[in-house]
Amino acid sequence: MIVRATPEAVKRAAQLLRGGELVAFPTETVYGLGGDATSEQAVARIFEAKGRPRFNPLIVHVPDLAEAEALALFDERARAAAERFWPGPLSLVLPRRPASGLSLLASAGLDTVALRAPAHPVAQELLRAAGRPIAAPSANRSGRVSATTAAHVDDEFGDAIALILDAGPCSIGIESTVVDLTGVVPSLLRPGGVPVETLAGLFGRIETPAPGDAAPRAPGRLASHYAPNLPLRLNATAARPGEALLAFGPEAPPGFTEVLFLSRSGDPAEAAANLFMMLRRLDRPEEFAAIAIMPIPEQGLGRAINDRLARAAAPRPPSPGYRPRRSGS
Ligand code: AMP
Ligand code: MG
Repeated sequence: MIVRATPEAVKRAAQLLRGGELVAFPTETVYGLGGDATSEQAVARIFEAKGRPRFNPLIVHVPDLAEAEALALFDERARAAAERFWPGPLSLVLPRRPASGLSLLASAGLDTVALRAPAHPVAQELLRAAGRPIAAPSANRSGRVSATTAAHVDDEFGDAIALILDAGPCSIGIESTVVDLTGVVPSLLRPGGVPVETLAGLFGRIETPAPGDAAPRAPGRLASHYAPNLPLRLNATAARPGEALLAFGPEAPPGFTEVLFLSRSGDPAEAAANLFMMLRRLDRPEEFAAIAIMPIPEQGLGRAINDRLARAAAPRPPSPGYRPRRSGS
């Protein structure tokens, strides 16, 4: 059920969370599918609803650094990152406190936990009202395009979740940046809402694991992820028959059946905010043969966009989250 995120609705959502139910809520990155991170059962329901492999840990959401410090061990570096970027689109992977009370399943059995304080006012209000950490992966079935509106969450889960809080489209539109701070050198597990150039300013050196590395520790690093039903063709500069186009920049090459502009001004932040929404809008296998996408520069949020597109275009293994395009094909 979609409900406008009024103060009353947020209170109701907090109650549901405290009772072990799942609630979808807006953040500045994408919509999250939330459950009580201290309840093994609630966290298990998240994995079940998403069809998510259990080796993929979840991000645990907190209102602020003080709450986060009760759950994980922060060194100077981690504290500096949180002070600079929280609340905001940065998730920090840190050692769990042994007495954190967090579900083990939320960490997929690892002795680390990913923490984030989201900036969206509704997410903040909900976290404070719930009074406990909330595990919340993106509100989409595993492997599929992330949801950036309440209607998209409803398309993914319908009545399988208790409540969907609606606060309109997400402003950033792409997931948080995930940085592992458990090693000597910070390691970028997933590019996202905080551009890596900005992080480098704080950390100096930051490692980027090769594709395929760390896959079990980072679901966003699975080769195939974020996938629409239609095949994707990247770096398209000319039309092929029956294709729809996601354009970047002021002009689209001729010959595409339909064209949506990620950003006419060539702004990667605007393109990120539109990406998942427009992928969903063009994902119409009965009308198009494929979705083509123009090249996007590897700068700022462009890096996060290209990361998602590469995974969305990757060969797709059969999985519970994967719906074949046509039966028998
Ligand atoms: P999602 O919840 O769908 O936004 O994806 C969760 C992301 O969190 C993954 O891409 C992982 O990189 C990351 N993550 C969560 N927990 C951990 C952890 N303990 N260690 C490493 N990465 C984690
Ligand atoms: Mg996700």
